[in-house]
Amino acid sequence: AVGERPFRVAIVGSGPAGFYAAARLLSKQNDAVVDMYEKLPVPFGLARYGVAPDHPEVKNCEEKFEEVATSSRFNFVGNIDIGNDLPLSSLKPHYDAILFAYGASEDKELGIPGEKALRSVYSARSFVGWYNGLPEHRDLDPDLSSGEDAVIVGQGNVALDVARILLTDVDILRKTDIASHAVEALAKSKIKRVRVVGRRGPLQAAFTIKEARELLQLPSVSFELIRKEVFPPDEVINGLPRAQKRLMQLLAKGSATDPQTATKSWALDFLLSPKCLNWDPIHPYHLTHAHFCRNELDPSDPFNPSAKVTPKHLSSGLRAEVKLPCSVFFRSVGYKSLPLPGLEDLGIQFDEQRGIIPNDGFGRVKSPLESGETQKLPDGSLISHLPGLYCAGWVKRGPTGVIASTMTDAFTTVDTILQDLASHQGSGSMLHAPGHSTGLGWDGVKAEADRRGLRATSWQDWRRIDAVEREKGQEKGKVREKITRVQDMLDVVG
Ligand code: FAD
Repeated sequence: AVGERPFRVAIVGSGPAGFYAAARLLSKQNDAVVDMYEKLPVPFGLARYGVAPDHPEVKNCEEKFEEVATSSRFNFVGNIDIGNDLPLSSLKPHYDAILFAYGASEDKELGIPGEKALRSVYSARSFVGWYNGLPEHRDLDPDLSSGEDAVIVGQGNVALDVARILLTDVDILRKTDIASHAVEALAKSKIKRVRVVGRRGPLQAAFTIKEARELLQLPSVSFELIRKEVFPPDEVINGLPRAQKRLMQLLAKGSATDPQTATKSWALDFLLSPKCLNWDPIHPYHLTHAHFCRNELDPSDPFNPSAKVTPKHLSSGLRAEVKLPCSVFFRSVGYKSLPLPGLEDLGIQFDEQRGIIPNDGFGRVKSPLESGETQKLPDGSLISHLPGLYCAGWVKRGPTGVIASTMTDAFTTVDTILQDLASHQGSGSMLHAPGHSTGLGWDGVKAEADRRGLRATSWQDWRRIDAVEREKGQEKGKVREKITRVQDMLDVVG
């Protein structure tokens, strides 16, 4: 406890990291009060806007989050973009601790010619946002009808989500919480063939068995067997750890659907790095091919799971290349966190290289003084992190890992906060920087939000939006019909 008043914590972001952190904090610290800030009017981050609509079981975590929000010590402050709508400096004076859990809102680019200029080239992030009804990508209107071939670069689970959405029978998707505009566009889609392309080999692919199996089991969708030259031989597969062995066996077996009767197909291409995108000279900006350079695995040990790839050259010395026809192209090579404006005012030097808030692995935000210098606190202790500042989730670890690992990570951060609180008990607010917090939390911040004309949404507001979405969904025989524009959400809450 911080004296006689509650222990006030601001959490920035309402995705899995923010919610699991709130759950842990409220259950472990009786006097903790949490204000959760979210830039959208609605909660849940990528659980709502990333996880594929045909994976409803993954979204079950939202039930746990709903339960957390019933606590009288939990307060949701939606529709406020921290750092843009409201400066971080207006939060800091009112909290004992701030926990950054704002995820990764950008994506990595390939940096190849044509990526920006051509139509029909999309990031998986925007496509996923579009089919999941994320307001930012509501109007993406992806070109799914200029041709029949899609190429996806990247071989993680997000890439397989994109492939599955493109290949699944739209009447199955219709029953999920997929956005209606996406159903309409997918119903008209002409895409028949999807190639999912990776820089490395099958043993290095990042997708997991569940996602691969789902694609292999899609009715009327065939799978092009992987070329023998790039696929590990049986003796290598037999020696692999169980999960990887099963994945390789699954890929080797392929799909039961006969290519002759299939209406659609997909393939995995390995050892290809994108070089450029080509367009039709008669129809400028009209994508026709994706151009790749071939790679090879270290020839001395090609089926070692940690083998490095190097560029493959022809006997002429030229780089071996290949062109894949495509009318639509997706890059799916990872998400990226950005620094919140104003982090530097709190003394945080965002790690641009790794795209994370620098931290000690336990969630304490590192001080830029880390290299060599330390800070001396009034109580005499030495620290190399910034008191009262913490992070969790993708902005802490980088954009990898599932909801379960994000939960573990958020729990670690909260345990760290509570450890710090216990070891600095009585030294005042902002954990151990005395006199820096009023402890008022949102009650102290609200005046500044009002002054700026911001309209914060509460948990009650979300419940109303949720109810409307479920009601509209019911009319259409689906779980929910998401409201896909911020203004429409605000209109619901009045
Ligand atoms: P996020 O979920 O991104 O939450 C961050 C929140 O912060 C967002 O709500 C955002 O709006 C908010 N925010 C951002 N900036 C600000 C700001 N300035 N002010 C206030 N709020 C802000 N995991 C699984 O277990 N199963 C799956 O099937 C699965 N599918 C996935 C599919 C896709 C396409 C993606 C991208 C991820 C998937 N994951 C899946 C991974 C899972 O979504 C992540 O592990 C998890 O969401 C990370 O949680 P987070 O809280 O760190 O980030």
